[in-house]
Amino acid sequence: MKMTLSHDDLTFDRQHIWHPYTSMTNPLPCYPVVAADGVELVLEDGNRLIDGMSSWWAAIHGYNHPTLNAAVTEQLSKMSHVMFGGITHPAAIALCRKLLAITPKALECIFLADSGSVAVEVALKMALQYWQAKGEKRQRFLTLRHGYHGDTFGAMSVCDPQNSMHSLYQGYLPQHLFVESPSCRYGDEWQQDDIRPLSEALALHANSIAAVILEPIVQGAGGMRFYHPNYLKQARQLCDRYQVLLIADEIATGFGRTGKLFACEQAGITPDILCLGKALTGGYMTLSATLTRRHIADVIGSGEAGCFMHGPTFMGNPLACATACASLDLLAENRWQQQVEAIEAQLKVELMPLLAHPEVADVRVLGSIGVVETRHPVNMQNMQRFFVENGVWIRPFGKLIYLMPPYIIQAEQLRCLTSAIGNVLERNQMFNKV
Ligand SMILES: *Cc1c(COP(=O)(O)O)cnc(C)c1O
Repeated sequence: MKMTLSHDDLTFDRQHIWHPYTSMTNPLPCYPVVAADGVELVLEDGNRLIDGMSSWWAAIHGYNHPTLNAAVTEQLSKMSHVMFGGITHPAAIALCRKLLAITPKALECIFLADSGSVAVEVALKMALQYWQAKGEKRQRFLTLRHGYHGDTFGAMSVCDPQNSMHSLYQGYLPQHLFVESPSCRYGDEWQQDDIRPLSEALALHANSIAAVILEPIVQGAGGMRFYHPNYLKQARQLCDRYQVLLIADEIATGFGRTGKLFACEQAGITPDILCLGKALTGGYMTLSATLTRRHIADVIGSGEAGCFMHGPTFMGNPLACATACASLDLLAENRWQQQVEAIEAQLKVELMPLLAHPEVADVRVLGSIGVVETRHPVNMQNMQRFFVENGVWIRPFGKLIYLMPPYIIQAEQLRCLTSAIGNVLERNQMFNKV
């Protein structure tokens, strides 16, 4: 495979290759990236962009990392893949030992799958099989508006109904229960009223609900909202009171992004089922893990099927597991906490003043996540081009311009990202104003 791109290649891409959430007929432009190193993406023309996205929460240690590269190479020389049915291997065992050591004690059983959405499907199926084995007909999920849990059907059915366009698939998607998302923000004074919608929904429907599923503390792709830890704490208490399972989707928040290794730690809670993905392999390849309690696994095993009914072809892929082990080892060196704290402090200093800008509706920062919410929807194409011309990779959506850089980013590099956001606000043609 050649590593350069011609004009022909880009035309081929436009004509034949789908990109996320784009039209094949009239696609938005794509920028050709031929390499990535540290916190920089290298464009075909040799220009380098400072990465503000960590490739969607994933590349926490940056790109082309020597430790991660070595882990891939070493595993590759032994075995890149083997089926997980009837076979086990050192990489999966090592990874699961490491995961159990850093997640809540009560979560003892791990299901490895191939993407975040599948981890969510697995979590939903675990909850359904659990109640089925107990002989209770509980087939609905309760979740929050503005949530995002993935694009497969089960996951999509618990995403925000508007953002994920439930209307498109009406009649095909299972109907679940939605409550208002928390309005009390992280850092605000706690308002007890905030939990009322969840508490009322549970009081009304608990005996038909299999589980509450939510993103702890940070609602990501559904609006980049940060909510109060007391909400999560009380959601846990309510699930206990009504004997409903709690699924925490930490696919975006896991592995340090919010300042804690897992966002559940912000409220000191243990979910019944925990979904991990994205940064699990340090952004090298796709892998996810769904963890649950022994008791839940035992009940599932006592049911009609006698087992948990899921088993992807690439389950426990050794290359991905070995890379994830190396990524967890890097986290264990414990530089991430200081790095995330430094990013948080700098984001606050450099983004908060943008609140004074007339185009800015809100600025919020938590851990290594910085969000500038604008008053008008961004013109994605113009804004993306502006950012690339200014040497940064920031991909806004809707009214959200946000940063979640690799933890290894240096202060001057982060400064380039925040000042690019400041500059883009000064340009009229960057927003769709009607
Ligand atoms: C990205 C994401 C998913 C889906 O993960 P994929 O790997 O894209 O399938 C699920 N839940 C949350 C919270 C996510 O951010």
